[in-house]
Amino acid sequence: VKRVYAFGKDADGKNVTEGNTNMKPQLGGKGANLAEMANIGLPVPPGFTITCQTCMEYSNAGNVWPEGALDTIRQYREDLEQRVGKKIGDPKDPLLVSVRSGAPISMPGMMDTVLNLGLNDESINGLIEQTENPRFAWDSYRRFIQMFSNVVMGLDGDLFENAITIKKNERGVKSDTELTAEDLQELVAEFKRIFSENVDLAAYPDLAQDGVAVFPQDPMAQLKLAIEAVFGSWDNPRAVLYRKQNKIDDNMGTAVNVQCMVFGNKGATSATGVAFTRNAANGAKEYYGDYLVNAQGEDVVAGIRNTSPISELKHTPGLEEAGKELEDVFVLLENHFRDMMDIEFTIEQGKLYMLQTRVGKRTAAAALHIAIDMEKEGLITKEEAVSRVEPEQLDQLLHPQFDKNATYDVLATGLNASPGAAVGEVVFSSEDAVRVAEEGRKCVLVRWETNPDDLAGMIAAEGILTSHGGKTSHAAVIARGMGAPCVCGVDALKIDAEKKEIVVSGTDVVLHEGDMISIDGTTGIVVKGAVDLVMPELTGDLDTILEWADEIRELGVRANADNPEDAELSRKFGAEGIGLCRTEHMFLGDRKQIIQKFILDENEDVRAECVKQLGELQTGDFLGMFRAMDGLPVIVRLLDPPLHEFLESPRALDVAIARMEEKGASADEIAAKRNLMAQIDGWAEANPMLGLRGCRLSILFPQLPEMQVRAIATAAARLKKEGLNPQPEIMIPLVAFESEIETLREKAEGFVAAVAAEEGVELDIKIGTMIELPRAAVIADKIAKHADFFSFGTNDLTQTTLGFSRDDAEAKFLPAYMEQHLLKRNPFATLDDGVAELVKMGCEKGRSTNPALKLGVCGEHGGDPESIMKFAKIGPDYVSCSPYRVPVARLAAAQAAL
Ligand code: ADP
Ligand code: MG
Ligand code: MG
Repeated sequence: VKRVYAFGKDADGKNVTEGNTNMKPQLGGKGANLAEMANIGLPVPPGFTITCQTCMEYSNAGNVWPEGALDTIRQYREDLEQRVGKKIGDPKDPLLVSVRSGAPISMPGMMDTVLNLGLNDESINGLIEQTENPRFAWDSYRRFIQMFSNVVMGLDGDLFENAITIKKNERGVKSDTELTAEDLQELVAEFKRIFSENVDLAAYPDLAQDGVAVFPQDPMAQLKLAIEAVFGSWDNPRAVLYRKQNKIDDNMGTAVNVQCMVFGNKGATSATGVAFTRNAANGAKEYYGDYLVNAQGEDVVAGIRNTSPISELKHTPGLEEAGKELEDVFVLLENHFRDMMDIEFTIEQGKLYMLQTRVGKRTAAAALHIAIDMEKEGLITKEEAVSRVEPEQLDQLLHPQFDKNATYDVLATGLNASPGAAVGEVVFSSEDAVRVAEEGRKCVLVRWETNPDDLAGMIAAEGILTSHGGKTSHAAVIARGMGAPCVCGVDALKIDAEKKEIVVSGTDVVLHEGDMISIDGTTGIVVKGAVDLVMPELTGDLDTILEWADEIRELGVRANADNPEDAELSRKFGAEGIGLCRTEHMFLGDRKQIIQKFILDENEDVRAECVKQLGELQTGDFLGMFRAMDGLPVIVRLLDPPLHEFLESPRALDVAIARMEEKGASADEIAAKRNLMAQIDGWAEANPMLGLRGCRLSILFPQLPEMQVRAIATAAARLKKEGLNPQPEIMIPLVAFESEIETLREKAEGFVAAVAAEEGVELDIKIGTMIELPRAAVIADKIAKHADFFSFGTNDLTQTTLGFSRDDAEAKFLPAYMEQHLLKRNPFATLDDGVAELVKMGCEKGRSTNPALKLGVCGEHGGDPESIMKFAKIGPDYVSCSPYRVPVARLAAAQAAL
C-alpha cells in the first residue's frame, strides 16, 4: 500500500505532485486540494501527505505504527529536504514545516495543526542568521512551543496566553506585534519553563532529563510526536461530537500533511488571511474574507487582532502585487472547481502562497444566490444549481426574524455573521448553555470569541454572540454551518465571563447571566430584552430554485396539517395538498370535556348528545381546512389515538385525592373522585400503542366514524354550494385486515350518500387507508381492492416493524445503539431499510390489484431528505411532511430525480 504522497515542486521547479482532488478518501480534503492546486500551477509550498488509512491502521492497532510506515515517511522527508535544499533542524539554515490534519470531509477547526516545527535552541540561530530578523525568529519559536505544548502535549493554551499578556503589561504595549525580539526571547524561556512544570512525565518518559520534562530538541522526535498527535486528534471529543452532529463516518481517519513553512510574520510585507471567492453570507459576487499583516495563520481565525477586509489587500503598500495575484487565483479556482471556494493563503515578503482551498461553506441564502448566479454565468447547469443547495439548509431561510413592527432600542451592533434572529437568556459558557437548554429555556451564548470546545454550547444555544473575531472567525463559520444565528465582533461588549457580566461601552447597561437579549444575525444587531420574532417571506432566490426543482422532481409533496393556518402556510410553501389531517388535536382544549364525557358517561343519551356536539364542531373544523385548501386534496384521518389520551392521568388524580383528604374534603367528594379514577383505570392499556386505537375505535364506537364522516361530507357539501371545490378524502388508520376496511368503507360510503341526499349535492369522496402495520403491507393487494389510496404511516410502521416503541426507544436505548454503531441512523428520523422494503412491497402489491391506487407517505420521514431519496426509488407518488419541511422536501425530491 502507498502511504505517502508528495506534492509541490522539486529542486528544478518541476511539479512532482502524486495526488489530485479526487483522492480525498486517501489524502483528506486538504491534501487532495493542495495536490490539485499544485497541479494547476498555483504556488503551493511543497510537502507530503500521509494517508487517512494509515491513521486508521495506527489508531485501530492501539496507536501502533503499521510496518514500514515510519520508513516511508523518513524517505519522503529526506526527499522534501532535497527538493528545497534545506534540512529540518539544520543549525545553519533550518527547514521548518507545518504538520496539518485534514480529513476526507472538512471539519473546520476540529482537529489539530502544528506550525514552525523543527525549531530548537540551535536551529533558532540559523533562522536568525538566514533571515537577519531575530524578532521573527523568536516569534516563530515561541509560537512553536506554544502550539506544540497545546496540540501535541495537551497543555492548557491559557497558560501561554497569560504569559504573553503579562509580558505585554510589563512592557506597557497592547498588541503582540509590539513585543521586541528580546521580549519574545524571554517568552521562549518562560514557555519552556511552563512546559517543564506542566508536562506529565509518566506519559512522556522520553522527555525526562535529570527527572525534569524538557521541551524536545530533536526535530525528528518533534515530527513523530506531532504526526501522532494529529492522528490522535481524529478522536478528540470535539471532533467526535462534530461528526455525530454532522452524520460523518467515524472510520475515515485524518490525513497528515507535512509542508514547508512560509511566513506571514516576517514584517509589513508579509500577511496571512482566509477568504471566500464570493460572499459566504449572502452570495454576492465579491471577494470576501479577512487578512492580517505580520501574522501567522491561526491569528486571523482566533480573532486575536482585528482583521482587515480582503478588498483592502491590493491597496496595502508592499502587498499590491500579491493582492492582485490573489484575485486572479480566485477566478482560476472558481473556473477550475466550478464552485465557490474557501481559501487560506500567506504572503511572505510580498510573495503569495496558497495553503488550502475547499468548496466554501455558505449560508442557505448564499447557496441559493451563488447557484443561480453560476447558472446564469454559464458555469453550471440548472440541474447542478438545484443539486448545489442542501435541502436541510433551507431551514435557515425559514428561521425567524425580528418582527418589522416591533419597536426596540439597538444596544450594540457587530458583524452579521450568520442569518436569523434569536432571543434568549444570556449565558457565558458552553456548559451553562447546555444546562439552560436542558432545563427547557432558550439562551444566547455570549463569548469573547468561541473555540472548538464551545461546540456543545453552540448547538444548545439559540444563537451566538461574540465581541471579537471577523466573519471567518470560529463562531461565524460554525454558526453558519449549523444554521444558528450569530453576531460577532461586537466591540462595545466588555465581557467578563468570570463575573458573568457584560458592560456595554457608551451606555450604562450592564447585563448579567439570565437577562434576556435578542440578536439578529442578518443585520448584526444586539438588543436588550426579548424582541418579537416572525417568520420570513419566501421570495426571490428560494422561489427560483424551488421552481427549477419542481421542473425536475417526480415525487409530489403534500403537507401534514390539522388547522387552517398551517394549511395556508403549507400551501404558500408549495404543498400540493394535505397528506394527513389528524383529527385528534381537534378534540383538545375546551372540547376535551365533551370527548371525556363521551368516554366516561354511562347514559346513552348523554353520550349521543356529546357526539352531536362534536359533530357540529368538526364540521366547522373541516369547513376551515377545505376552504384553505380549495381545489387541492385534503386527506382526513379518522380518530386514531387510544382513548386514555383524552383522559386525566390516573397519577395526577391520585395526587389530587391525597390533597383532598389532607384538606378534609367531604367523603362524597372523595368517593366521586375515586370512582372517576377507577373508571379511568379501566381505560388503561398495557401497551396502548398496540391497543384500542385506529380503526379498532371505529369498530367499537361506530358513532365516532359516523360523526366524523358526516362532518367531512357536510362541510364539503356546504362549500360546494358556495361554489368552491373541496377535495376531502377519508383515511382509515391502522388497518390490518381486509375485513376492517371492507366494512368501514361500506359504512362510510353510506354516510356520505346520506349527507349528499340531505344537502342536495353530489359528493365524490375518496376513501383510503394507512399502511402502518407489517400485515397491511404484506396483504396490500387485498386491501387495495377497497382503497382509493394508501398512505404509508411510516412512524407507526417503523414502530410495528422494529418492535420499537418510539418514545421509549429514543429515551432509553437508541442513543446506545447509535454510540455502539449498531444503528447508523435513528430509524424514526431516517427511513430504515427494512421498513423501506415493506413500503416497496406495499406499493407493488397495492398497484397489482388496483392500478389507479394513489400512494403517499405521511410520517416524519416524508420531510427527511435522506428518506426522500429512498422513497423516490421504491414507488410512492408523493410525500407529506410538516409545513416548514415542504420547501426542503421539494428540493430533496428534485435531487432524488437527478
Ligand atoms: P485547519 O484545518 O484548522 O484550517 P490548517 O492546517 O489549515 O488548519 O492550519 C491553519 C493555518 O496554519 C493555515 O490557515 C495557515 O495560515 C497556517 N499554516 C499551515 N501550514 C502552513 C505553512 N506550511 N506555512 C505557513 N502557514 C501555515
Ligand atoms: Mg485550514
Ligand atoms: Mg399511525
